[in-house]
Amino acid sequence: MSATVTLKPGKDQSLRRLHPWVFSGAIGRMQGEVVEGEVVAVQAANGELLGVGHYAPGSIAVRMLAFGPEAQLPDAAFWEAKIRNAYLLREGLGLTGQGNTNVYRLAHAEGDGLPGLIIDVYGDVAVVQAHSAGMYKARPLIAQALQAAVPGLRAIYDKSAETVPVKAAPGAQNGYLFGESNGQEHIVHENGHPFAVDWETGQKTGFFIDQRDNRSLLARYAPGRRVLNTFCYTGGFSSYALEAGAELVHSVDSSKKAIELTERNAALTGLQNRHEAYAQDVFTFLKDRHNQYDLIVLDPPAFAKHLSARHNALMGYKRLNAAGIRQIAPGGLLFTFSCSQVVSAELFEGAVLAAAIEAGRPARILHRLTQPADHPVSLFHPEGEYLKGLVLAVE
Ligand code: SAH
Repeated sequence: MSATVTLKPGKDQSLRRLHPWVFSGAIGRMQGEVVEGEVVAVQAANGELLGVGHYAPGSIAVRMLAFGPEAQLPDAAFWEAKIRNAYLLREGLGLTGQGNTNVYRLAHAEGDGLPGLIIDVYGDVAVVQAHSAGMYKARPLIAQALQAAVPGLRAIYDKSAETVPVKAAPGAQNGYLFGESNGQEHIVHENGHPFAVDWETGQKTGFFIDQRDNRSLLARYAPGRRVLNTFCYTGGFSSYALEAGAELVHSVDSSKKAIELTERNAALTGLQNRHEAYAQDVFTFLKDRHNQYDLIVLDPPAFAKHLSARHNALMGYKRLNAAGIRQIAPGGLLFTFSCSQVVSAELFEGAVLAAAIEAGRPARILHRLTQPADHPVSLFHPEGEYLKGLVLAVE
């Protein structure tokens, strides 16, 4: 192997427990050409091989790809086995049959033993997003593995330009690794609901797949209710509410493009006469909506991307939830979410509690929500659980 990272004595415990990150402070010495994005061998202070991973200069110095004394440099067969394994899990979840649901997450980074890699599938198109230099460099092999492991793929789109560290890939451009755009609107189905997805110009890989199960839950409560879906993006919750028989659905997002996408998706349900969309800031919108809604969804973008921003994020969640709780009609349901990885479920619940106190409204927790099974969390990497939600009944 080209380069080796040797850990300080006693710093090998977390790798032996299969945690996939080596922090820079754990490294004793580096030998050979240790280059960003290349594969390095990681050994204990006594020279024992602990595994291999992608190197990056920074706080997380190595993201592990394979563990143990038998670990080898990843080759085409390695990538194919990883992607096939990820596919088999989704097949077992009933997501790959192109039936009611043909949009799913195929690779969820550490949750699939692929730190730094996200792959989302939209029918016959896969969208790859590399969050590390190592995964960025591996894209050709990943694309090959996808074609071998996923039946019926027509195209593979690389959407890494916004996510790969700039220094590691200056001037990175998004584009097709295989196949091409067919120039047509791409409609996928989630639990039977149609959605137009545009991975080329949309946020993230084009659609927020992680709310699938929570949208289904909302559909159970939506009939006859007046629903407000804030931070709606492409209107996932809105379409479910419309088709479930909500009395009316209002969607709010500050992005004009998001509002256009929401309106398009509402039109696909054929029930757009019960839908209104507003390109507006949610905090402004919520100022004067007293008793207008019986069900409110609050699904903001991550308020904290780093630990240093956590305190401000909690204040943000408190302010947002207080605004929602104040406005909701008596007996209303609040679906409230946080997708900040550094905000734990306990901290989030604390912020929502503070919000209810501030708003002076008693509230009860009906459900505690999280991400769906195609966003698995490795037991050895609990940090992978990022989405948390509460359904509150507000008195
Ligand atoms: N609930 C969505 C995903 C939300 S993503 C779904 O199920 O698909 C977060 C969205 O919040 C983005 O579309 C972004 O444009 C929007 N946003 C961010 N800040 C906002 C603000 N202050 N007011 C309104 N929308 C905002």
